Amino acid sequence: MAEDSIAVVDLDRCQPDRCNYECANFCPPNRTGEECIVTRDERHEDDDLYEGGPDQISISEELCLGESCGICVEKCPFDAIEIINLPQELDDEPVHRYGENAFALYGLPAPEEGQVTGILGPNGIGKTTAIHILAGEMRPNLGEFNQEPDWDTILDEYRGTGLQNYLEDLRDDDVTVARKPQYVDQIPDQFDGKTRELLERTDERGALDDLVERFGIEAVLDQDIDSISGGELQRVAMTATLAREADFYFLDEITPYLDIGQRVTAARIIRELAEEEDRSMLVVEHDLAILDLLADNIHLAYGSPGAFGIITPPKSVRNGINEYLSGYLENENMRIRQDAIEFEEHAPRTVTSGQVVAEYPELTKSYGDGEFSLEAEAGQIHEGEVLGVVGPNGIGKSTFAQLLAGRLDPDTGEVDAELDISYKPQYIEIDQHMRVDAFLRSITDDFGSSYWKTEIAQPLQLERVMEQNLTDLSGGERQRVAIAACLSKDADLYLLDEPSAHLDVEQRVLATDAIRRYTEIHDATALVIDHDIYMIDLLADRLLVFDGEPAQHGHASAPKGMREGMNEFLANLDVTFRRDERTSRPRVNKPGSQLDRQQKKDGEYYYT
Ligand code: ADP
Ligand code: ADP
Ligand code: SF4
Repeated sequence: MAEDSIAVVDLDRCQPDRCNYECANFCPPNRTGEECIVTRDERHEDDDLYEGGPDQISISEELCLGESCGICVEKCPFDAIEIINLPQELDDEPVHRYGENAFALYGLPAPEEGQVTGILGPNGIGKTTAIHILAGEMRPNLGEFNQEPDWDTILDEYRGTGLQNYLEDLRDDDVTVARKPQYVDQIPDQFDGKTRELLERTDERGALDDLVERFGIEAVLDQDIDSISGGELQRVAMTATLAREADFYFLDEITPYLDIGQRVTAARIIRELAEEEDRSMLVVEHDLAILDLLADNIHLAYGSPGAFGIITPPKSVRNGINEYLSGYLENENMRIRQDAIEFEEHAPRTVTSGQVVAEYPELTKSYGDGEFSLEAEAGQIHEGEVLGVVGPNGIGKSTFAQLLAGRLDPDTGEVDAELDISYKPQYIEIDQHMRVDAFLRSITDDFGSSYWKTEIAQPLQLERVMEQNLTDLSGGERQRVAIAACLSKDADLYLLDEPSAHLDVEQRVLATDAIRRYTEIHDATALVIDHDIYMIDLLADRLLVFDGEPAQHGHASAPKGMREGMNEFLANLDVTFRRDERTSRPRVNKPGSQLDRQQKKDGEYYYT
């Protein structure tokens, strides 16, 4: 073989009965009589343990010529094959390989007592796999998927590394682990009953009351689990995990559906458990401002999603995030992205040159007997602009959007424009048994046009999910399909509620670009509600700031410039940001630090 490369066959796609083995027919080593691509049955003819299966292909990584050949990749009509050269620096065997020509994971994160360790990287790169291994739910096979190695072999591999003790304890069943799953929306499928019942059985540390209070979930204790919202489920799941008595806590994404105040609270609670109780915390997180606040060290994960992933040794959280944003990992000598992700240090000048799409007077709206009331200042919205909408959950953001769209009538004031609105809700419920392509085709006549592909399908990375069923999609895939569906409709106003949920950093940046471009080209306006401050920074031209008392009354500002808007929003939260010296990215100040006090005094919460 020319270079170390990995061959990955997607068995959900490989359908030899429909292609007549085009890959094998054209593979150069095959043509000289070698058995580079053969069927799985042929490969394992002499293997007693092999159970046989459909006649899908097996690619020999020893014989394969590598990425520069790639003929099979081109020939396969179902996009089932990936041939990728591994980075030259990588001389280790994988920690785990799911099977022949399947995903391979290299490297493991090393949780440490008294520390919060973060993992940052794209979806599909093996973060959950690593967590399964460290949680003792899966024994790593060191790439030997035919003969599961015993623990001694595994330990030999890790002797002298930071993971040796951990793995020994794991072998001896001496590690207690508490884990919060990624998709909290699935909890009601697994648990029936009231929130209180679920939580009570987790209270091993006697910390439940305190956690319930700090996460602000008292009000849902007596509700059925299947009746509470995603944001509440997220906090219930975190409470259930952190209430346990464990040496290691694994939290797979903590921010989806939480507002910024709730995110910051969650980060502080997790930090305290590490610092004050000397526990090890391992957290996967894509909200970089929160990860920055939360973690002491982070491991970056890179590679090729779905094919292989490499987890780096730990880096300080500051350097790690800087390197990740810059797109270049220094120690690894690895470029992971062409362009750096950059933030504006000074507030951009507000340009509102587009035509006015909607002009509205002061509006009020209340529900029921005034259980919740909203008042919105008068304002104007322009063509081609993206308005960031910020404020806590339950403060009236969706209500306001419905008023603008004419779907709800205000109690006082009048919205004259009849705007067509296209809406992506926060919680995406797709239970239709329908393929993604059929679903999107039913929404737009542009489906499949080169324009639609460039503006929507590519940035939202939809190509590989088109043939899947909506119900089989992961949270991140579902989110991207929902954003695509929202943008594909003809409308004046695109309202996207939390598009960042379950997207990785790369996908957030791509989705941001897609939303910005789309509004610009269509002379439309986008209202984007999101709680990821980096995403809002990259996305918004102006801000609508909501404050008040959630579930009681809300107040919406008129659209404001970024500087004024950020100041107002962050003053409500009592959080200031400084700038990283090297990259100018915003970083949360320690409450009460000199900078924090100075910035509050100056009224400059975000931009300098
Ligand atoms: P992440 O958490 O970074 O999104 P995962 O660890 O969940 O990534 O998955 C990494 C890759 O491993 C995915 O491409 C997935 O298809 C593959 N994978 C996960 N579980 C299995 C499995 N049981 N068998 C084969 N492949 C799997
Ligand atoms: P946000 O979008 O900021 O999370 P919403 O506008 O969805 O806030 O809701 C604001 C408040 O109004 C919440 O307390 C919510 O429960 C309540 N609410 C929303 N819609 C209705 C309705 N149709 N009837 C009664 N109360 C509602
Ligand atoms: Fe054969 Fe490898 Fe070339 Fe594919 S990339 S055709 S497996 S040599």
